[in-house]
Amino acid sequence: MQVKAKKHLGQHFLTDKNISRKIAQQYGSHFDCKKVLEIGPGMGAMTQYLLEDESLDVYVMEIDRESVAYLNEYFPKLHGKIIDGDFLKYNLKTLFGDTPFAVVGNFPYNISSQILFRCIEFRDQIPEIMGMFQKEVAERIAEKEGSKMYGIISVLLQTFYDIKYCFTVDEHVFNPPPKVKSGVIRLTRNERKKLPCDEQLYIRIVKACFNQRRKMIRNTIKPFIGDKSFESEYLTKRPEQLSVEDFIRLTLEIEKATI
Ligand code: SAH
Repeated sequence: MQVKAKKHLGQHFLTDKNISRKIAQQYGSHFDCKKVLEIGPGMGAMTQYLLEDESLDVYVMEIDRESVAYLNEYFPKLHGKIIDGDFLKYNLKTLFGDTPFAVVGNFPYNISSQILFRCIEFRDQIPEIMGMFQKEVAERIAEKEGSKMYGIISVLLQTFYDIKYCFTVDEHVFNPPPKVKSGVIRLTRNERKKLPCDEQLYIRIVKACFNQRRKMIRNTIKPFIGDKSFESEYLTKRPEQLSVEDFIRLTLEIEKATI
C-alpha cells in the first residue's frame, strides 16, 4: 500500500532516509520537550525515526484519510496517537490539556505560515518547534532586521521564538519533488511570553509597516495616530530597520500618545 500524493494537501513525501533521520535526531538532541506532535506525517517518513527515540512520546496529526489508514496499518506503536484532523482547526486543548508539547513536521508548504501562526496562538504550550519549509520561507523566518527578506513573519515569530536556520534540503529527496529547495529551522520559545503592549495593536502595526515597506514609519503609522501629536526616533526609519524590541517600543509609544 502507498499513499498517492495529493497536490492540494501539499503532499511531498520524503524518500531519503538519511534526511528524515537527520531531522528526527536533531530534534531529539536539541529539544527538552518529550511530548511531540508531528503535523502531516504522511506515510511516516520522519515518524519512524522519532519513534526510535524511546524517550519521546509521539503523536501525529494528519488531515489525509488515506495517510491515516496507512499509518494505522504500518505503525502499531502509534495506535491511539494518530489524530485524524486539521491542525489549523483542531482544538489542541482537547488533545493535551495544559501539558506542553513540541511541534515537528515536514510541513505542507501551502499552509506553513498559517501553521506557525497557529503555534503562536498556542505558544504557552509550545516551547519548541522544528520543521521543514520552502527554503525561502525558512530563511525569511530566521532573518534579522537590516535584511531585504526580513518581514511580517520574521518579526511576529521572533517576538516569541528564537530561530535558527539548520540546513537546506534538495528537491530530489521528495516524491514528487517540489519546485524549490527546502530549509529546516528550529524555533525555541524565548522569555517574551507576554508583551508589555497591546498584542493586537502590535500585530496591526507590524503588518501595516511592512505592507508599505518602502515608506517611512512616519507615513505608515498615521492611521494609528490620528490628529494626536507624536514624536519618535523611529519616524524616519523604514520597517526593515526595526528589531522586535523596536516594534514593541513603537507600539508602546503609540499607545501612550493615543490614550
Ligand atoms: N511528513 C511527510 C509528509 C509531508 S507532506 C514526509 O515527510 O514524507 C505534508 C503532509 O501534511 C501531508 O501528508 C498532508 O496530508 C499533511 N497536511 C496537509 N494539510 C494538513 C493540515 N491542515 N493538518 C494536518 N496535516 C496536513
